[in-house]
Amino acid sequence: MLGAIEAGGTKFVLAVGPSPDRITARRAIATRDPATTLAEAADWFMQQGGIRALGIGSFGPVELDRASARWGFITNTPKAGWAACDIAGHFARALGVPVGFDTDVNAAALAEHRAAGGGSLAYLTIGTGIGGGLVLEGKPVHGIAHPEIGHIYPRRHPDDAGFAGICPHHGDCLEGLASGPAIIARWGASLSELPADHPGHAIIADYIAQACHALFASLAVGEVAIGGGVANTPGLIERVAERARALDGGYLPGGAPHRVIAPRLGGDSGIVGAMMLAETAAAGA
Ligand code: ZN
Repeated sequence: MLGAIEAGGTKFVLAVGPSPDRITARRAIATRDPATTLAEAADWFMQQGGIRALGIGSFGPVELDRASARWGFITNTPKAGWAACDIAGHFARALGVPVGFDTDVNAAALAEHRAAGGGSLAYLTIGTGIGGGLVLEGKPVHGIAHPEIGHIYPRRHPDDAGFAGICPHHGDCLEGLASGPAIIARWGASLSELPADHPGHAIIADYIAQACHALFASLAVGEVAIGGGVANTPGLIERVAERARALDGGYLPGGAPHRVIAPRLGGDSGIVGAMMLAETAAAGA
């Protein structure tokens, strides 16, 4: 049996199963302080009869450098109590099994890459924050830490000139302009609550399309899969796809057109990707 955790700022999704294709039990628990949350998660895996390896896709920032003494840590998150939390080490000790560890969005990208049957792919989540994971030529991208695609600066939409953005670090970065809280900050409602003819739909689609174009142009991914709460707004993915095509104007090479899609695995990308991290950890043990 493999175990998996999609560790988020508001909930932890736990799952077990014999393979990433077969999750046989799952549970969501609220994210509280680390000691309470991690103990409840470890107890649940024990109740399932134990596991032979665990995969964790975590909110971050996280340390992914295997050579670092802080590998497997959540590092400097503003989330109270979670900075410098040794999440991978906690489970390695509590469960006595090998642990695979990556960002939540890289885990989701791994699962979407597998569902796509290969290629190079980015996964974007547009929700409380904006994050992005990358799988290039079959490998998750870490670089010197991990990508933070949500914090690129898009060109400002002409109908959105007066809004300063809400990112505490950058103001009007992508997350500061297009995350769920940024939408509520300027229009007082979520994107799906705004009327169909509200200009917010085109503005938000434009920012996300700029990020997709940056991914297509800089990393030559063939697809960007977009998940997260804001992405569930009816029509948004189609708007982003259309706007990304317009922004490119048919220039980018690569044969098949670059695609903006809804995740093939729906809301399961992250937990299935965490199962894949467990499978890799089991193989390496
Ligand atoms: Zn930012």
